[in-house]
Amino acid sequence: MLDKAPNGKVSGLLNALDKALSAGEVEHAVDLFQTDCYWRDLVTFTWNIKTMEGKEQVRDMLKARLADTKPSNWKIADGEDASEADGIIESWIQFETEVARGFGHIRLKDGRIWTLLTTMSELKGHEEPVGFDRPMGAKHGAERNRKTWKEEREAEAAELGYSRQPYCVIVGGGQGGIALAARLRQLNVPTIIVEKNERPGDSWRKRYKSLCLHDPVWYDHLPYLPFPRNWPVFSPKDKIGDWLEMYAKVMELNYWGSTECKKASYDDKSREWTVIVQRHGKEVVLKPKQLVLATGMSAKPNMPKFEGMDIFKGDQHHSSHHPGPDKYKNKKVVVIGSNNSAHDICAALWEAGADVTMVQRSTTHVVKSDSLMELGLAALYSEQAVQSGMTTAKADLIFASLPYKILHEFQIPVYNAIRERDADYYKRLEKAGFLLDYGDDDSGLFMKYLRRGSGYYIDVGASELIANGSIKLKSGVDVKKLTEHFVILSDGTELPADLVVYATGYGSMNGWAADLISREVADNVGKVWGLGSNTTKDPGPWEGEQRNMWKPTQQDGLWFHGGNLHQSRHYSQFLSLQLKARMEGIPTPVYGLQKVHHLS
Ligand SMILES: Cc1cc2nc3c(=O)[nH]c(=O)nc-3n(C[C@H](O)[C@H](O)[C@H](O)COP(=O)(O)OP(=O)(O)OC[C@H]3O[C@@H](n4cnc5c(N)ncnc54)[C@H](O)[C@@H]3O)c2cc1C
Repeated sequence: MLDKAPNGKVSGLLNALDKALSAGEVEHAVDLFQTDCYWRDLVTFTWNIKTMEGKEQVRDMLKARLADTKPSNWKIADGEDASEADGIIESWIQFETEVARGFGHIRLKDGRIWTLLTTMSELKGHEEPVGFDRPMGAKHGAERNRKTWKEEREAEAAELGYSRQPYCVIVGGGQGGIALAARLRQLNVPTIIVEKNERPGDSWRKRYKSLCLHDPVWYDHLPYLPFPRNWPVFSPKDKIGDWLEMYAKVMELNYWGSTECKKASYDDKSREWTVIVQRHGKEVVLKPKQLVLATGMSAKPNMPKFEGMDIFKGDQHHSSHHPGPDKYKNKKVVVIGSNNSAHDICAALWEAGADVTMVQRSTTHVVKSDSLMELGLAALYSEQAVQSGMTTAKADLIFASLPYKILHEFQIPVYNAIRERDADYYKRLEKAGFLLDYGDDDSGLFMKYLRRGSGYYIDVGASELIANGSIKLKSGVDVKKLTEHFVILSDGTELPADLVVYATGYGSMNGWAADLISREVADNVGKVWGLGSNTTKDPGPWEGEQRNMWKPTQQDGLWFHGGNLHQSRHYSQFLSLQLKARMEGIPTPVYGLQKVHHLS
């Protein structure tokens, strides 16, 4: 008799998939998928980060990659059970390829695969030294001239980059560079992080004084070393800075602080980079095989150019250089922009006794932090989720299992519920003149983040100040020009100003490639970030994945890494495995290398 329970259904399907794939029968395998199916692969089949949408794309990928990949042993993951709700059966799964072990997630609809996530957990023969394989630390026995751990670390620090070259150089030692380097250390890939700031964590420390993380602690853990259970929900910026500094030290990273990358060039013949850095004022030339730009999505300020900026007599700076409100008590401040930084800075200035006006050019998506936590994140990243057995790794994988193509469909109801719950709040903001949106298709904050990385404020208090008029607002206007003491707006309003803050956002990460490598390489690589959703600031065509992030680019040996803490944690796993495989000479034929449609 057929087993109708979820476990039986999933096992039955996985057996059929295993059989078809082992026999190289692509058509039989494709028959197991729904017409509207999605197969998201993180490195196992494609050596890429890629979603196959629909049977045709699944078929094409399998035709190209099945013979090499040699998948086997598909089954429900050890210790897990499938479950069924609303007609969808889902389960954690495991499988192997010729070179790796994989973990994943499957959803079945009407007995066929609707979504499939396949991710690489480890390379066979190159597993991380954990559990029974953890290092001894002590060397028992007797040995002449033995070196201590400290001496070995000092010797490595003295050699690497001088008498011995690293395999990988990461430019940028923020949370992205640090998380990736921690994984590469465990995989034994010699790596140097070069960071122009003095200490790990400085990129957070140097931001405006009032900043706390907008994402809650459950979303923010770094690989290997989660925050303790008493860590605050929203980390103050200097505290996260200290955590990163501690982390870089205990994870034994080769972190070159006060070191600026000046130039990098790639030699196609030797397949090697020449990376010129200034370390404590001295030039050092590094020769890695792989170069990772972890220079930050929020690190290349977009500074507008307005007539009269050169004659303005007050202070003016980009939000990234805002020192905090202390010296602006009783001063008149104009903040240009209406996203996160603008709101945080306005609120801190108001608290310090400044007379603040926000200039809002176009609509902004605002969502109350509480509502976002409860309705947007709680199922996966919250204390309740932890209490109900959700782990960070599983939460990340569930998130990853929802195909980008239909992610907005899952998000729209969440933001509709938030709009309903906070209807009065939104009304009050509109009454104050604030221009609101909820995303082009009402899909809210997370889609805006993935599509354009901007256009929102997670409200931690500033919106009330706008609603009650404490922070003054000029909306639907642009800056026309500055005079010696005024900001003149497009509707003719003259705002007196002692300080102008340009909270005008950040440029594309491929600007870093242009600065550090060349315009030609930056153009070959194209725009970084965004999905090609054909919504505001995310032009089509549809790409299906974040452009250029964590995956091979059109430039051999060049990678981009970063994003929020969740993304740095999750995707560093797949980037580190791609780098390790290359170092070990494991063939890594990339399927579906992203085409370039936009330069920046
Ligand atoms: C106001 C604000 C609030 C934010 N809130 C959150 C939040 O709550 N949660 C969250 O996860 N993210 C948040 N972010 C996004 C945040 O920027 C990123 O999550 C995080 O900083 C990205 O880390 P990163 O390592 O990719 O880049 P960064 O932290 O920006 O690090 C990049 C590093 O590269 C270095 N660098 C650049 N060029 C060179 C060079 N040529 N040589 C050497 N070093 C170089 C820089 O000095 C910098 O330290 C926020 C960002 C801003 C601006």
